[in-house]
Amino acid sequence: MTNPAMTNNVVNLAGQRRNTYDVDALRAEFPILSREVYGKPLVYLDNGASAQKPRAVIDAVRHAYEHEYANVHRGAHYLSGAATEAYEGVRDKIATFINAPSRDEIVFAKNVTEVINLVAYSWGVDNLHAGDEVLITEMEHHANIVPWQMLEQQKGIVLKVIPIADDGSFQLDAFEAQLSDRTKLVSVTHVSNVLGTVVPVKQVVEIAHGRGINVLLDGAQGIVHESVDVQDIGCDFYAFTGHKLYGPSGIGVLWARAEILEAMPPWIGGGDMIEKVSFSGTTFAEPPHRFEAGTPPIVQAIGLGVAVDYVSAIGMDLIAAHEHELLTYASSQMSEIEKLRFIGTAEGKAAIISFVMDDIHAYDVAAILDREGVAVRVGHHCAEPLMDRMGVEGTVRASFGLYNNHADVDALIAALHRVREKLG
Ligand code: PLP
Repeated sequence: MTNPAMTNNVVNLAGQRRNTYDVDALRAEFPILSREVYGKPLVYLDNGASAQKPRAVIDAVRHAYEHEYANVHRGAHYLSGAATEAYEGVRDKIATFINAPSRDEIVFAKNVTEVINLVAYSWGVDNLHAGDEVLITEMEHHANIVPWQMLEQQKGIVLKVIPIADDGSFQLDAFEAQLSDRTKLVSVTHVSNVLGTVVPVKQVVEIAHGRGINVLLDGAQGIVHESVDVQDIGCDFYAFTGHKLYGPSGIGVLWARAEILEAMPPWIGGGDMIEKVSFSGTTFAEPPHRFEAGTPPIVQAIGLGVAVDYVSAIGMDLIAAHEHELLTYASSQMSEIEKLRFIGTAEGKAAIISFVMDDIHAYDVAAILDREGVAVRVGHHCAEPLMDRMGVEGTVRASFGLYNNHADVDALIAALHRVREKLG
């Protein structure tokens, strides 16, 4: 039996507006943060890879499976109607969250990687031809490199790369220098997952649109660290992934302007994306359903809806301010550690700190941190070309989320001192 009162409770709890930023109270809402690893309190600084989930999201997922689960859209029975309503309701929430003009501009997919592939293969069919250029930056995640390289091989498009500055900043003049009459798409990250660099996306859009070029923003990190308004930014596509935004894994979101989506052909065919199927021909549904073939990530979407309620109730601006404060606190203490070198120091960067210790291998640093209970990421962070650009094999990355606090930073610093003690 479904229990609408319970659904409302879950959502209300997630959506309760808070008066102040009480990080201790927020921490208490993330069950996993109270666990220990190796007998030490967990210090979770791997938010850039995936964020932990608040109880409201966990409860919503559980509630959906326990009380409101059925397949969506086609069912004639009560539960299917309830699940459809919950699933479709998330489109409205996401549209409000990013200030999209219409809920029909919100397409669900598996993750941001799938979303970028969707744009490459669907929008790319009519809009990218041999010799056309797609511009990316040196600091892209593989998810915004490889799909375009595949189109280079398949269609003969040309992938051009905008160089970044040594401190990791985006350079508008270098960007403009790469534009040509053949540029069809600028596809850049909003915030670098390695350097924390925030790309001046409004200026990028203004320059690109001035030349009639579309802009895709990989918002996997951007949506987490600041409040996003797609109309204000003015881009054509904005892509993000739910699991970094405190929601479940298995759900990604594409926002694209209605007229662009309407002109895009489907890229995966099957159930749920059609208008009429016969052996003599098939017609396709309108967006967004045209792009959501097969059973969608129903419960993942419901969980993401609650995650969006949750962060909205806290306030993205307050989250950003909190994270910036932690970034400043952590950076100043880390700069005291001998032979520690930051990779990425662009002004106004988001709370993602990549570093190396010049005389110690990054994996050794991360292994010692792990034993101290401090979870960080190490390696190339799915940005191998960026590692080459910065002249490192890999980095250690501490990335902050809404629940991190000064004690987490202190634990990181103490663990880094331990690295020095152990490995010289
Ligand atoms: N783009 C950026 C900037 C990212 O940080 C990530 C994940 O780390 C991705 C794309 C890929 O995300 P997903 O694995 O959810 O598709």
